[in-house]
Amino acid sequence: MLGRTEGIVLRSRPFGEADLILEYLTRDFGVRSAFAKSPRKIKSRFGGSLEPFIHSRISLLGREDASLPKLTQSDIMTSFQPLREDIKALLQATEFAELILKLLPEREPAPRVFELLLWALSTLQSMTMLHGMIMSTGGAAAGANASGVTAPAAVKNERETRERWQFIPAVFKARLLSLTGYAPSLRGCARCGAGSRVFYPREGALLCGACARSGPSLEISAALPGIYRNLSEWPLEKIMRIRPSSGLLAELKKFIHVHLAEGIAVTVKSAKFGHGPAE
Ligand SMILES: [Zn+2]
Repeated sequence: MLGRTEGIVLRSRPFGEADLILEYLTRDFGVRSAFAKSPRKIKSRFGGSLEPFIHSRISLLGREDASLPKLTQSDIMTSFQPLREDIKALLQATEFAELILKLLPEREPAPRVFELLLWALSTLQSMTMLHGMIMSTGGAAAGANASGVTAPAAVKNERETRERWQFIPAVFKARLLSLTGYAPSLRGCARCGAGSRVFYPREGALLCGACARSGPSLEISAALPGIYRNLSEWPLEKIMRIRPSSGLLAELKKFIHVHLAEGIAVTVKSAKFGHGPAE
C-alpha cells in the first residue's frame, strides 16, 4: 500500500474514454505513474487538480511494486496557474519535467529532486509574473519609486529580470545533474589531475592535452567551475543571490546544453540497458 504523499504532475495521457494515466514526481516515492478513473467526466472528484505541474496532496492505492497504482485522492496545494498561462514558462516547465523523466529512474525516492522542482516552478512563476508586470507598465513595477522610473531604467529592469528568469533553468539543471549522478567533473584533468580548461562532453570531464583523445570538446573560462559548484551546492533559499555576469550566464547555459546534449544523451541511452548513472 503506497498511501499519501505530495505529487507534482509531470505528464498525463488519456486512457480509454474517460480515464487518465499520470506521471507524478512524488515527495516520498520518486517518479510514479498512476491511474485516475474518470477524471475527464464532469463532477469528477479530482476537480481540476490533474493539470501539468499542479502540486497536490495525493493518495495512491496499490502495492509498493505495483506499476500503476490508482489515484484515489488529489487536493491542490499549489496550482501554478499563472505559469501554465505563459507559453515560455510552460515550455520551460515542460523541459524540467522531461529532464526528470529522462534522468531519474522510476520508483527511486528522490525528495531533494522534489524540492528542486517545487523551487524551480515557484521561482519561474514569480519571475514570469514580475517580467510580465515590467513589460505592461514600462518598468514602473520593478522600481521602488514608480513615478521616477525613466525609460533606460525600464530597459535595464527588463533585461535584468529576463536574465534572472534564465538563471532558473541553469540552477535546476546543474542541481538535477548532481542529484542524479550525472554531474560533470570540473576539478582538473579527470585522468591525471593536471590543470585543464578543456571539457570533453563524452567523458563528462576536463582532460589535459596529454590525456585527451579525439572527440568534441569545449573550452571553459576560469570562472565556470566555481559558479557551477556554487549552483550545485548553495542552499536553494539563498541561490538567487548568485548573480553571474551576462557573459558567464551565457557560458553556463551553453556548457550545460553541451554536457546534456553530447554527453548525457549517450550515457542515458546506455543506462537503459542496465549500466545506470555514474554514482
Ligand atoms: Zn591529464
